[in-house]
Amino acid sequence: MADNPFFTVSDLPYQLPPFETIEDAHYRPAFERGMSEQRAEVEAIATNPDPPTFENTVVALERSGQTLQRVAAVFFNLASSDASPEIQAIQQEVSPALAAHSDAIHLDRRLFERVTALTNDDTSALDPESRRLLERLHLRFVRAGAALGDEQQARLREINEELSTLSTRFQNNLLADTNASAVVVDDPSQLDGLSDDAVAAAAQAASDRGLDGTYVLTLVLPSNQPALASLTDRDLRERLHRASVERGANGNEHDNGEIAARMVTLRAERAALLGYPDHATYVLEDSTAGSPGAVHDMLARLTPAAVANARAEAARLQEAVGDEIELRAWDWSFYSEQVQRATYDIDGAQLRPYFELERVLRDGVFYAASRLYGVTFTERTDLSGYHPEVRVFEVFDEDGTPLGLFLGDFFTRDSKRGGAWMNTFVDQSTLLGTKPVVVNNLNIPRPPDGEPALLTFDEVRTLFHEFGHSLHGLFSDVTYPTFSGTSVFRDFVEFPSQVNEMWAVHPEVLENYARHYRAGEPLPQEQVRRLLDSREWGQGFKTTEYLAASLLDLAWHETANGQHVDDVSGFEAAALQRAGVALDTIPPRYRTTYFAHIFDGDYSAGYYSYIWSEVLDADTVEWFEENGGLLRENGEHFRRTLLSRGGSVDPMVAFREFRGAQPRIEPLLKRRGLDGAD
Ligand SMILES: [Zn+2]
Repeated sequence: MADNPFFTVSDLPYQLPPFETIEDAHYRPAFERGMSEQRAEVEAIATNPDPPTFENTVVALERSGQTLQRVAAVFFNLASSDASPEIQAIQQEVSPALAAHSDAIHLDRRLFERVTALTNDDTSALDPESRRLLERLHLRFVRAGAALGDEQQARLREINEELSTLSTRFQNNLLADTNASAVVVDDPSQLDGLSDDAVAAAAQAASDRGLDGTYVLTLVLPSNQPALASLTDRDLRERLHRASVERGANGNEHDNGEIAARMVTLRAERAALLGYPDHATYVLEDSTAGSPGAVHDMLARLTPAAVANARAEAARLQEAVGDEIELRAWDWSFYSEQVQRATYDIDGAQLRPYFELERVLRDGVFYAASRLYGVTFTERTDLSGYHPEVRVFEVFDEDGTPLGLFLGDFFTRDSKRGGAWMNTFVDQSTLLGTKPVVVNNLNIPRPPDGEPALLTFDEVRTLFHEFGHSLHGLFSDVTYPTFSGTSVFRDFVEFPSQVNEMWAVHPEVLENYARHYRAGEPLPQEQVRRLLDSREWGQGFKTTEYLAASLLDLAWHETANGQHVDDVSGFEAAALQRAGVALDTIPPRYRTTYFAHIFDGDYSAGYYSYIWSEVLDADTVEWFEENGGLLRENGEHFRRTLLSRGGSVDPMVAFREFRGAQPRIEPLLKRRGLDGAD
């Protein structure tokens, strides 16, 4: 296997992985070699006869594991965005091995002693980024259990391995059950209300599954399914809604209930081993929030007003439904759309011809970035992604300096998990001499061949959001890979991406991209105004479903050690009831059995992060508005003080340097209609 493409540094531009030559058979040997190489590198550091120095210990650790890094970046992106049974089998095998590998490093006492000795030394000669790296590394060892006794460490290793296996199973089950729960419709008249291209997409989805002649409504994350807003057939709405919220809880071989409960139990046990009362306390110690108490305080400021708004919205919807029918969860979107249309005279479906993917990308997302940061984009059709649908763009700075590569993988596939996200293939680091290679994944329904991809406004916003993460990666200007780009606290990482959403509705940006895909005429000003006004509607629903998921996440992870929950849905119902967010008509944004963020992602005890980051976001939007908006110098200030610094400084210090003040919560309350004003 000398020709395994992971064994050497890619010679493609920016070290783009050589996707064309990568085969499934390369992953196992590359993981094996990557881990054994890093073990040898770490062993050399731990047994170095010289006294520990920053260079021979901390920097040496930063440099270690590059083969592993290369294969892991490619593999885990693929496991999310183009999984196959073979990839899933490899993941099942490799995940616990990686957990054990990470433990072998972080539970190594010899390494820990060297790092501790350096921490106790005089560190004043180190530059600030290096000093922070040392501090963070020491903390990482402590939090991983390096200071524990042998028996406790052995148990910790077992827990970590089991958790990583369970997490992979959760992910694979969710993908399988999501596909199995797709709603098959035989009678096309039942699809009344869907747009022509949504019907075409449903026919395509059916034919992809060998169900020609029928229609398949595929499920997306989160709970609420977009088609519910337009399907007039109430029975079909109910089927679709139930299929969505019962995902992963169907009592079949893909059921995630017991897996989630077991993961919660193990996380609580691990927290106890490390000296914390529960997993949430352990996780939140290492965040900008600091503690579950701080998160609960913040959520408590929002919950009563959000639920009151949701109830007021429900009352208006019930009016629209009429007396004969009781408003149910599967009616919410449908009538909400009607009320919104009547109130603001706006029809989401009529806007879609103005949101064509290519225009939104080039004349919206890229355009805003060019205006703010001076960057330009060139599509590199000579470079390949990991799937034929992946697009590759080279990004240049204002003076023509090459910055990095941006990959876009926009369409939904059965092999792709739900949601939208950003991944990194190559981290920017001046130590390693690497420039960033990042990818955005979305789940836009693929239009039939030859047809344009027309987006909903939500999808437009998602495109801007994910690109905000990409900018965070692309603008990274740090020394150490540990601090590169989006490697910041979880409750800070959504901040730059949320800020980038503001440009989707900025008049100059909107005017530039929102043009009819056929004739190119701009979205009429009147429609723009209505679109912006109409966003006031539905904040009660949106905030409540989000808060419910956040509070559910916290409830699971505040479980004390030694408890095991047998009745997952009962636990969930009780938790929502206790938190004051149990509304029959508004399920949480994620229910336990498909809550991928917390059981198959890094967001356990962290789903609150989105609204926590949104405080910073709303305050930042105010800053841009106070300072003239879409201006090159504003972009530059944001980039220099914040985006370029990754995790190399304390994020709240960076924020204060950017804003010149502490963040205020008022702009968020105002935005979400929670400030008591009309
Ligand atoms: Zn995000």
